Amino acid sequence: MSEQQTIHIAGTWRSAISGATREVLDPADATVLAVVSEAGTADTDAAVAAARDAFDAGTWSRAPTGVRAGLLRRTAVLLRRDKARIALLESRDTGKTVQEALTDVECVAAAFEYYSSLVADGTAGRVVDAGSEDVHSVVVHEPLGVCALITPWNYPLLQAAWKVAPALAAGNTLVLKPSEVTPLSTVVLIELLAEAGLPDGVANLVTGPGDPVGARLAAHPAVDLVSFTGGLTSGTSVARAAADTVKRTALELGGKNPNIVFADALATEEGFDTAVDQALNAAFIHSGQVCSAGSRLIVEEDVREEFVTELARRADLIRLGRGTDPGVECGPLVSEVQRARTEEYVASALAEGAVLRAGGRRPGEPDLTDGYFYRPTVLDGCHRGMRVVREEVFGPVLTVEVFRTEDQAVSLANDTEFGLAGAVWTADPGRARRLAARLRHGTVWINDFHPYLPQAEWGGFGKSGTGRELGPAGLAEYRETKHVYQNLAPRPVRWFAG
Ligand code: NAD
Repeated sequence: MSEQQTIHIAGTWRSAISGATREVLDPADATVLAVVSEAGTADTDAAVAAARDAFDAGTWSRAPTGVRAGLLRRTAVLLRRDKARIALLESRDTGKTVQEALTDVECVAAAFEYYSSLVADGTAGRVVDAGSEDVHSVVVHEPLGVCALITPWNYPLLQAAWKVAPALAAGNTLVLKPSEVTPLSTVVLIELLAEAGLPDGVANLVTGPGDPVGARLAAHPAVDLVSFTGGLTSGTSVARAAADTVKRTALELGGKNPNIVFADALATEEGFDTAVDQALNAAFIHSGQVCSAGSRLIVEEDVREEFVTELARRADLIRLGRGTDPGVECGPLVSEVQRARTEEYVASALAEGAVLRAGGRRPGEPDLTDGYFYRPTVLDGCHRGMRVVREEVFGPVLTVEVFRTEDQAVSLANDTEFGLAGAVWTADPGRARRLAARLRHGTVWINDFHPYLPQAEWGGFGKSGTGRELGPAGLAEYRETKHVYQNLAPRPVRWFAG
């Protein structure tokens, strides 16, 4: 298979300076899906230089906000035009179902539209009362400069959009580094931005590994901000590398997200069915490779047996297969590494006393043996002492813990070093409000799991990260704030007598 040139610098598609390439694998059967350019440090430096030149030239960074808003809106139109093609590519690259990938593309278009609308009104700052009619004082927002945007493999296009759209809306230039495991849809995004009319050099792309490409971006003196989405270990190295140049850092890291089910939510047949259905969705969509996966079920003791029995029954019925095949509900894990990691966590949980209620194995179907498939797994009898409860598995593994009182439920749910998202299932509105206030997580769902809105902030407490994406705060990440104080009647201050 011949190389697809996937490094984009100053408007030109290129191979790596070293000539290196990488095979991108189809996780459903481990065959080669594409061969892409493998950037190194020299390519990264060239991309940063192009972004710096484009920023300093001012064509984009000083463009009227209406021009930026128009570009983002056109990008959304192009994404929708090519939705089917992009979703198919994303499905083959990540293993997720086409249905899920179609939803991703729609959400990506919505993010571009949202940031277009947020800057479209051209609001140019805030006038401040300086206490004197001889002073005009205004606070304005300006672009930061060159942004390095580093994304993971689970939602390649979506995570890129949550960074690219606000970065461009604010007037920055950027270097984007997708995960080396799933770079293909990001290449398409860069193509569409060019088609929408983005000037050359504003959005550059380097396809390559975390080290050296991501590490170089995080440390590079000409980069003003690094926005990173990925795991805790890589995130902390990014923060360390960025510290030497005091660049602004935004980190969207992992989660170990509680899904709390109170008995009162299950009192009706419909309530029971909904809570079981959503607990499955919370834990197993995209084979659990979701930062906000509801991987910890925390259920009231009285209803635990009935709830877990039905959950495990339905987990066993989940149809695994290639994400592009009709009727498939769950694709493979993204790589052999990810499946091995999942298997290791399940083995450690069983060794620590967890009770296997569903899954815990690779599927037996002959057509699934070449891919990285693993059956949705329910582990009962879990507790905080187990690694599988404390650490992010990032695979189709759901642990079950029980509580008796509301206080216990809160304490279990908050007993994590992460704090990305959590959900509460209850029919009692007062209890729902109390728990929403007490949960130390960046998103709290009440009687739902997983929805997010482009206009509402997304991000984590604790080791789930710093900063926020989406919403107005997602734009603020990419802006400098400047106070301009103009004295309209300057006079000597006579602090010094002479
Ligand atoms: P990862 O940390 O392995 O890689 C993420 C990105 O960082 C990749 O592009 C990778 O090449 C790069 N990278 C790796 N080491 C680096 C380094 N030292 N310096 C700079 N860049 C480096 O993560 P992953 O396995 O691709 O993704 C899964 C993780 O992402 C999970 O922990 C998940 O929870 C997290 N995630 C979080 C969110 C969120 O919104 N909080 C969303 C999606 C995924």
